[in-house]
Amino acid sequence: MTAAERGTVYLVGAGPGDPELLTLKAARLLATADIVLHDDLVPQAVLAHAERALILNVGKRCGRKNISQQQIDSMMVDYGRRGLSVVRLKCGDPLVFGRAGEEMDALRGAGIPFEVVPGITAAFAAAAAIQRPLTDRRSASSISFSSGHHAPESRLEPASLAAATRVIYMPGRDLSGIAAQLRSEGLPGDLPCVVVSRAAQPDQQILRTTLAELDRVQVVPAPSILLAGEPLRETEENKAGWPAGMVAEIERSVGLPTEP
Ligand code: SAH
Repeated sequence: MTAAERGTVYLVGAGPGDPELLTLKAARLLATADIVLHDDLVPQAVLAHAERALILNVGKRCGRKNISQQQIDSMMVDYGRRGLSVVRLKCGDPLVFGRAGEEMDALRGAGIPFEVVPGITAAFAAAAAIQRPLTDRRSASSISFSSGHHAPESRLEPASLAAATRVIYMPGRDLSGIAAQLRSEGLPGDLPCVVVSRAAQPDQQILRTTLAELDRVQVVPAPSILLAGEPLRETEENKAGWPAGMVAEIERSVGLPTEP
């Protein structure tokens, strides 16, 4: 049983939003923490696990508009120093595009013990939503995670990413910049692209398009994530499910009684 220890800060992944996708460890830490400091993207259904904690939204969008990263760092250090058990709850995985590096530096500097509890990152929730393996061996040999937010500054190495499935976090509303960047790397106009809005949440939406049409995709509710790559292509096989007869064949091979 993992209970939150006093004087410790836990950087916990909340997963993509479905409370069933929390780890058991995350759920137990939430249930036993004194303080939960969470981001905007963590839904109420997940926060409901923190039954006894003081819950503070330190998100920069709806929480406290003027809160700085430094202030969040200080809060974690102060609460830890006061001997409270603190959960710093971040959507998805806490170490993926979540400024955890700065937070851990502050905790290390102040000598506050901390632990990282991984979570299911949005990329994998989106892949589950569209039922596609991002590393389908027939068409992709790697995955690249990047942030649309910093797209203009990023220096990708197109050659090494030719057979990678691209996952772009924080794509923003206007996808034309990302489309132009991917085209400039030589990716074809018919490359399948999918935008998944609010993956693993009740109002999840999936929009399928191609690289050539990406800039015309309608705006969807945040948070959304963009995937691009050959494994996302809809083929007759992956559209139609398993070929006829295959299920019966497998059932026979494992000795299941066949239907009368
Ligand atoms: N640590 C998070 C990412 C934080 S950056 C993780 O591992 O998932 C925030 C971005 O994550 C959002 O702009 C969006 O691109 C993506 N994101 C987070 N949750 C999402 C969800 N449920 N559906 C789609 N995208 C999501």
